[in-house]
Amino acid sequence: MSRRDVVSKPGLSKRPVFGRAIGALTFFFTLGVAFAASADEAAYETVSLGQGVYSFGTYAARSVFVVTSAGVIATDPVDAPHAMAMREAISALTPLPVRYVVYSHAHWDHAAGGQIFKNEGAHFVSHASCMDFWRRHPNPDIVAPDELLEGSGQIELGETVLRLQYHGRNHGDCMLIMRVEGSDVLYVNDLVTPFNVGLGAMPDYDPGEWVRTLEELEADRSWRRMVGGHGVPVAPREALSQRRRYLQALMTAVREGMEKGLRYEALYDSIELPQEFRDMRGYDLQLRRGAERIFHYYNMGW
Ligand SMILES: [Zn+2]
Repeated sequence: MSRRDVVSKPGLSKRPVFGRAIGALTFFFTLGVAFAASADEAAYETVSLGQGVYSFGTYAARSVFVVTSAGVIATDPVDAPHAMAMREAISALTPLPVRYVVYSHAHWDHAAGGQIFKNEGAHFVSHASCMDFWRRHPNPDIVAPDELLEGSGQIELGETVLRLQYHGRNHGDCMLIMRVEGSDVLYVNDLVTPFNVGLGAMPDYDPGEWVRTLEELEADRSWRRMVGGHGVPVAPREALSQRRRYLQALMTAVREGMEKGLRYEALYDSIELPQEFRDMRGYDLQLRRGAERIFHYYNMGW
């Protein structure tokens, strides 16, 4: 990869990352399991979103790839079967090679399985902070990146420009949010699973920085659809706003309960959110876990 292809723009990070006191990071590698619910949702599917952008995967784990006139940019290989199925989907669309693989972030359930693309000569790209995570949590199934971004950047291939946006700490601290220049589709892994409350334990999420990042993405009116790392192939931008509102409603409810003197089980049992959020997938299973996570966030400072 040449510097001409990947242009690092450290100055684009919207605001510095302020270090909250970081407690022990608990890492879960079963993120997708909770979301797989039916045989249909386990089938790999490829959905064209225009301008060479494709959503690929299953309900449990999803990636984006971009077909250009000079080759393909793939993202998150997930695991070896997902990567192989994605390679087959790409081969059905173009004989061109996969030139780049971009990691949205460091977590194993998205970054593993990329060897098939390394074998054909693809260059791997991530944010530099992912390396800190992989040093602390090594995984032999993750191909090391060839190029590290210090902030936001972009990949230029053929006539296509893939923008890589860095918004600081949110879910881990190396998340890249992606969009092809001129496309209305945002690829935003794990910060939003459309119409789904996600995992209540919120593994490696900083709730405050998460809300800030979603608000920054909402302030950008130039995109209309989004692809998440789990869930449906594509969703309207309202899905991102709904997830932000859910988080804020949960945080407000927990704080109000604490102000009434409730703690632990009595607090978690007292939380009930408006119907809009009760209709989100996973609400019944995850709400109490979410309330516990947010209680610790306010009680311990993280
Ligand atoms: Zn993740």
